[in-house]
Amino acid sequence: LIAYLNGRFAPLAELTVPVLDRGFLFGDGVYEMIPVYGRRPFRLAEHLKRLAASLAAVRIDNPHDEATWSALVLELIARQPFGDQSIYLQVTRGAAYPRNHAIPARATPTVLLFADPLNPPATVLVEQGVAAVGMEDPRWQRCDIKTISLLGNVLARAASVDAAAAETVMFRDGLLTEGSASNIFTVKNGLLLTPAPSNRMLTGITYDVVLELARRHGPPPVIRPVTEAEVRSADELWLTSSSKEILAIVSLDGIPIGNGAPGPIYRRMYGHYQQFKAGEMRP
Ligand code: PMP
Repeated sequence: LIAYLNGRFAPLAELTVPVLDRGFLFGDGVYEMIPVYGRRPFRLAEHLKRLAASLAAVRIDNPHDEATWSALVLELIARQPFGDQSIYLQVTRGAAYPRNHAIPARATPTVLLFADPLNPPATVLVEQGVAAVGMEDPRWQRCDIKTISLLGNVLARAASVDAAAAETVMFRDGLLTEGSASNIFTVKNGLLLTPAPSNRMLTGITYDVVLELARRHGPPPVIRPVTEAEVRSADELWLTSSSKEILAIVSLDGIPIGNGAPGPIYRRMYGHYQQFKAGEMRP
C-alpha cells in the first residue's frame, strides 16, 4: 500500500519517523479519517476544515492550504488498488530535542497519510443493530479537538470490548457526551435528540450530515443536553461515524433500548444517508 510521509509517496511498510517526534513522545498531533467511495472522498472540504480547526486549537501551523491537501488526498486515492477507502491523515508537531513540554519555537510538522480498504458495517449489523455499554466519560475537557492523544477513548472502548459490545456510550455530569469513536443520537416519542457541539465532544462530519438529513426529511432535530436517563429510556439510540455510518444501538449495558431492534426512524435515516452518499458520489 502506498502511503505519504513528509513530501513523498512510498510503501507504508517502508516509512519511519524519528523517536523524538512529539506525536510519539506527547501524543502532540491531530488527525482525520476520510471515507472514500468509488475513489471519491466523502465530504472532503468538511474534513479539511475540521483539520484546520484542530491544528489551530493545538497551535500547529497548518502545513498546507486546502487545495494542496485536496491534491494530496486525491493522489493517495489514485495510487490505491481498491476504490472504497478509509484515508487516515495525521499531522504531528514534529521532532524536537531535548524533550520538553514547552512547544518548540521551530519544529517541522510530520505529515502522514495512508489508506485502508473501507468496510462499511455488514448488513446484519444494519438490520439487527449493535450492543453498547455506558461509562462515565474519562477524557479531558477538549474533546472537540481531533487529537491523536486518544488514551481516554482507548480505555473507554476497552469497556465495550470487555463486554463484547460494539461501542461505549459516555456520560459526563449525568449528560450524554458521545461514543468512544462516534456521536450519539436518541429518539423519544418521534423526536430526534442529540447534544450540541461543545468541548465535551467531537463534532462528527456524519453528525452534521445526519442533522442536515433530519432537517430535510424529518424528524426535525432537537439539539440540547440529553440526560443519561433519557438515553437509557430512549425509543431508539444511534451511533454515527465516518466508518460506521449510522448504526442502531439496541441494548445498553445488556438492557434493551426500545423493543431491542432498530427502530423505524433509524431505518428511514439509514436510507436517506445511503441516498445522500450516492448523490454526492455521482460524477
Ligand atoms: N467522536 C469521536 C470521539 C470520534 O473518534 C469520531 C470518529 N472520528 C466521531 C465522534 C465521529 O466523527 P465522524 O463522523 O467525523 O467520523
